Amino acid sequence: MLLHQGVVPNNQITASLRFAHRWDDQQLCWVPTADAWGRLALDGFLIAGDGRGISGGAAAALQGQLAALAAAHSAGRLPERERDRAAQPLRSALRRQLHIRPFLDALYRPKLQHRVPADGVIACRCEEVSAGELRRMVALGCAGPSQTKAFSRCGMGPCQGRLCGLTVTEVIAQARGVSPAEVGHYRIRPPLKPITLEELAAL
Ligand SMILES: Cc1cc2nc3c(=O)[nH]c(=O)nc-3n(C[C@H](O)[C@H](O)[C@H](O)COP(=O)(O)OP(=O)(O)OC[C@H]3O[C@@H](n4cnc5c(N)ncnc54)[C@H](O)[C@@H]3O)c2cc1C
Repeated sequence: MLLHQGVVPNNQITASLRFAHRWDDQQLCWVPTADAWGRLALDGFLIAGDGRGISGGAAAALQGQLAALAAAHSAGRLPERERDRAAQPLRSALRRQLHIRPFLDALYRPKLQHRVPADGVIACRCEEVSAGELRRMVALGCAGPSQTKAFSRCGMGPCQGRLCGLTVTEVIAQARGVSPAEVGHYRIRPPLKPITLEELAAL
């Protein structure tokens, strides 16, 4: 059995910085909470592109331009009026890019059996924890991914939950009969990707 979550944002960085994320039920993933410029909850942090929700290459570039305008403005290099004037055509172009999204998300929604697999299927490839083991941990009272992690090392291997995070959230949500939003996601720990001892020693 193969698992498949669709194309989803990599939010290891935004999650490790503890920015708020919301569950996107259309794209079945976590997306960081950002305003129309891509500003996150902390001054100086902006996000654009796939990391703030999947919307395609052209939309990613437009979001990047909007974020750059906001950055230039907050650095005192671009007056508000100029920022807003420059943003208008970008926003129209972005709206056109995003128009198709609900249709694409509905058409290519990954099937439930590929996201919330049967008991025998390995959910965490690094530590070889199956969906059935996750369900048994929920029966013991584990309410979210960080608890099943402590019980089984699920999500504690080299991928640090990048691969299994969404599967684990959805399996727990289904077993508890609640939404993924209520279950939450892993608390991310550095390093975000495996590094060699040589790289670490050279820092
Ligand atoms: C197979 C495939 C086909 C696609 N086809 C289309 C298509 O036909 N049309 C379309 O509109 N879109 C398509 N897309 C989507 C499009 O590629 C993305 O929406 C777009 O690339 C997003 O841009 P981005 O800048 O957000 O992310 P990316 O282009 O992924 O850029 C992110 C960059 O950050 C770097 N990075 C990651 N982690 C770190 C780190 N910790 N430190 C430093 N750098 C880091 C990466 O190496 C990468 O260079 C496709 C995607 C895929 C995978």
